[in-house]
Amino acid sequence: MKQDLWINGSFEPGNEYRELRSPYNQEKLADVAAAGSEEIEAAIASAEKASKLMAAMPAHKRAEILENAVQILKDEKEECARIISREAAKPIKAARTEVERTITTYAFAAQEARRLYGETIPMDAAPGGEGRLAYTVKEPLGVIGAITPFNFPMNLVAHKVGPAIAAGNTVVLKPASQTPLSAYKIADIFHRAGLPAGGLNVISGSGKTIGDSFLSDKRIKMITFTGSPEVGTYIRENAGLKKVTLELGSNSAVIVDKDTDLDKAVPRIVSGAYAFQGQVCISVQRIYVHEAIFEEFTERFVHEAGRLQAGDPLDETTDVSAMISLDDAERAESWVKTAVDGGAKLALGGSGEGSVFQPTVLLDVDKEQKISCEEAFAPVVHINRFSGIDEAIGYVNDSQYGLQAGIFTKDINAALKAARELEVGGVMINDFPTFRVDHMPYGGVKLSGTGREGIKYAVEEMTELKLVSIKYE
Ligand code: NAP
Repeated sequence: MKQDLWINGSFEPGNEYRELRSPYNQEKLADVAAAGSEEIEAAIASAEKASKLMAAMPAHKRAEILENAVQILKDEKEECARIISREAAKPIKAARTEVERTITTYAFAAQEARRLYGETIPMDAAPGGEGRLAYTVKEPLGVIGAITPFNFPMNLVAHKVGPAIAAGNTVVLKPASQTPLSAYKIADIFHRAGLPAGGLNVISGSGKTIGDSFLSDKRIKMITFTGSPEVGTYIRENAGLKKVTLELGSNSAVIVDKDTDLDKAVPRIVSGAYAFQGQVCISVQRIYVHEAIFEEFTERFVHEAGRLQAGDPLDETTDVSAMISLDDAERAESWVKTAVDGGAKLALGGSGEGSVFQPTVLLDVDKEQKISCEEAFAPVVHINRFSGIDEAIGYVNDSQYGLQAGIFTKDINAALKAARELEVGGVMINDFPTFRVDHMPYGGVKLSGTGREGIKYAVEEMTELKLVSIKYE
């Protein structure tokens, strides 16, 4: 199969093609076009041209296009899940969940399209402001450059395309090189949903080449990026006055207090640690357990994690499959080995076959070990102990990242203290840090990023506030 670029409402050839292979069995999936400077220019020009049309389009029409896309996605959800599963090696059960979430995300975007309004400003609250009617309106920015990662190739695209269309913008989307087919499927769906040509352009190819074009092109008014802190920082440093939203990585932690109901908490934390092989930005990576229940928690956790089925992503029984590349599996293995050499205990896993890395549990890991202080992005967790809640909060905060954190406790004071003191974008009380529904504000502090997604919040980032003041005569 040959996958062309999607520019100005039709598939266009690229100047070169790269083989896309399954991360699980290396089966060839497609020859995918890589955009060069000419194609990038054509995509931006087409988005710029369509931006006038999109800005003038009434809200009910933008909402209708999004609703049409929701309906097509519902009709074609199994096909969508299979695309994700094949190109990302995401277990099919998890891929289906991602498609359901994508549907919800676009449904929220359709609602937000109808809710784009400002407020009246009481100008007479300031001396000299009397005798005026003032109000704000939210205007679209124009062309948005969106760059997305491999791990949620449909839903994280939806978190950019949905609010952009809701707000009347146009988009040039650069999907991750390992997962372009999901993005091209979405382009086709929006075309059939009635989005005008140029409203959404999808160009696969080198992240650096396309990213640098977004940075240097004045027609791109905003860059919305989800991916690694390294690339996010580079974008921030080179974006000048463009708006920038960055959704970056984390080494998410959960605190398990002594009164926790382990029947509920253990399976929940296991799923937060190993879903999609731990390649989720809010995967559980660090678990801090009260010393009074450390042994029992660990025993149950290792038992539960040991039951996960590794295998083919398209197999209905598979829980964990291949990591996105062999390099990533090898990196995880070497970080685990270094931690063990440094004194950590290996309670489960620790190795793999090819790019399928076994669910792994380490105990008592030193906080300076990469597997603790860097983002593992692998099916690896470590369990450490604490004796008091201040100590546990200190461990969680001792991180360069701050996306979300979780705490299981029945102590209301401990819960509220955690809510106040944890340095993260979201605190999940009595749940894992991996919890997300698609309309909640979502984003990080520290190296985990700037700005928020969650449709309503992304719409804020993707619009400019204009004040209108009318002086009575
Ligand atoms: P990545 O390597 O940073 O890639 C993300 C995207 O950036 C890809 O499309 C990539 O293209 C592109 N890119 C690479 N170099 C670039 C450059 N110099 N300029 C502009 N774009 C460039 O990240 P990943 O490995 O795909 O994803 C994993 C990371 O994403 C993890 O850190 C994870 O935590 C984070 N993430 C965060 C969130 C969140 O919401 N906070 C959600 C999901 C993932 P190529 O594929 O062509 O290299």
